[in-house]
Amino acid sequence: MESPPTDFIRQRIQSDLAEQRLSQGVITRFPPEPNGYLHIGHAKSICLNFGVAEQFGGKTYLRFDDTNPLKESDEYVDAIKADVKWLGFEWTEVTHASDYFEEIYNYAVELIKADKAFVCSLDAEAMRSTRGSLTEPGQDSPYRGRSVDENLDLFQRMRNGEFAEGEHVLRLKIDMASPNINMRDPVIYRIRHVAHQRTGDAWCIYPMYDFTHCICDALEGISHSLCTLEFEDHRPLYDWVLDNINLNYHPPQIEFSRLGLEYTVMSKRILNRLVDESLVDGWDDPRMPTIAGLRRRGVTPAAIRDFCSRIGVTKQDNTVEMNLLEFCVRKDMEDSAPRGMGVLQPLKVVLTNFPEDQSIELQGPWHAQNESLGQRTLPFGRELYIERADFELEPPKKYKRLSPGEMVRLRYAFIIRCDEVIFDDNGDVAQLNCSYFEDSRSGQDTSGLKPKGVIHWVDAAAGVPVQVRDYQRLFKVPNPGSDTLLADINPDSVVHLNAVVEPAIMQHDSPRFQFERQGYFCKDAALPDVFNKTVSLREGF
Ligand code: ATP
Ligand code: MG
Repeated sequence: MESPPTDFIRQRIQSDLAEQRLSQGVITRFPPEPNGYLHIGHAKSICLNFGVAEQFGGKTYLRFDDTNPLKESDEYVDAIKADVKWLGFEWTEVTHASDYFEEIYNYAVELIKADKAFVCSLDAEAMRSTRGSLTEPGQDSPYRGRSVDENLDLFQRMRNGEFAEGEHVLRLKIDMASPNINMRDPVIYRIRHVAHQRTGDAWCIYPMYDFTHCICDALEGISHSLCTLEFEDHRPLYDWVLDNINLNYHPPQIEFSRLGLEYTVMSKRILNRLVDESLVDGWDDPRMPTIAGLRRRGVTPAAIRDFCSRIGVTKQDNTVEMNLLEFCVRKDMEDSAPRGMGVLQPLKVVLTNFPEDQSIELQGPWHAQNESLGQRTLPFGRELYIERADFELEPPKKYKRLSPGEMVRLRYAFIIRCDEVIFDDNGDVAQLNCSYFEDSRSGQDTSGLKPKGVIHWVDAAAGVPVQVRDYQRLFKVPNPGSDTLLADINPDSVVHLNAVVEPAIMQHDSPRFQFERQGYFCKDAALPDVFNKTVSLREGF
């Protein structure tokens, strides 16, 4: 058992607990916007938020941050719930920012009454051009001086649906000269004549993230509001809102670095594009960095959790190598996945001295080091398939596999010798005629023969044809850009192979296997007789 991870957030929680600052205990939330499927970056946040609550006996809300009805949908809500569950976490309660729309509205009214918010009627372009820059202050909106009564009236009428989108917004009255642009009279409500997936047509004004998030956190009594570093500059606004409304609880916002992973993208906006433009085969395409894609590829929740614990939680921006994720995937399956034989690029072998129309049953363990996985039966007959790559017409020195006149052992079976190579019309190797040594059966070998290598094989008559999908990186470059997305995409990120697997693999309950000498593979959850390659056996493939 590895010791639980520790990091600056856990240390902070521990000291808050030790000094009895948390009267309600540890309460966290995971707040996805339901505008796409979760990706492995979200897994980092999930493992952190649910993980600390588990560790310190607290609660975690799964809160849908549903303030932008244009991009959100129930499909995404359901997918997010399924993914969090699959990762092995249980929420205390599902909540939605929209559950609090009435409260949030009332706090906005409260701020108007205190002359801390005003209705601004600048159009988007004018608003942008008066915002200033990092080096220059912004300019006050000409509407900043509206009276409280006028603001109350206009805001009510915004809610009533009397105005078109973009005609007015509600802004906080903070400081247009603030060095922090987020504090320059930020917009907190905008008009959107769009039905909301939960509140329907009840609202045509929707609160902005910065106004919504802190209020929801406070209403739910969140003890530590954990978010990614890009919100560091929003923290003054988070604090300003809670300091200026009549809500007597104020959670601390604590930022940690976002996970980036090489050779893929981690933004729902870009992942959405990949799906919409059919650059991948849906959100659960095994090449996607989504939880659904990783699941379909054969990655287990345990591997993802292990990965998240290894990358840790810091304030340093980090782009992690794909190798680390692959390492965790391999490590997780090393001892637990049954090991069978699959020939990915079959080459036919005929054992000329094996009786026709006969078959014998051999035995092999599902895992040589893990007896608990049991044994399987291996049919063995006159015709077999071996891997095309395990035969060389002109072998290099010290070649350990099959070549003309040489011998090799078939795993859990017999030693064979290649007597004759048959070519097709193109001059390619089409078939090998071999002899087998009857007294060389594995475990009962009295032949005295000592071939150098052992290769995998599948009986031709009993073997099951399947399609193996071998995945490469989705992008050619470690850090694909959103503007160069199409150029950066790897056009050969999947190869379909007509493979043959031993029949016991098809009968086994496990979806995940090691195909000996090849890698880890997973039965596709939707397509019959399709195996997805999860990961190779070693790094660097
Ligand atoms: P995206 O750009 O992919 O849409 P987001 O931050 O807008 O990401 P949300 O649905 O708002 O996505 O995120 C929910 C939670 O997950 C937030 O607390 C967010 O900070 C966290 N999160 C999102 N992406 C990552 C990441 N790459 N690494 C760590 N945490 C992340
Ligand atoms: Mg977002």
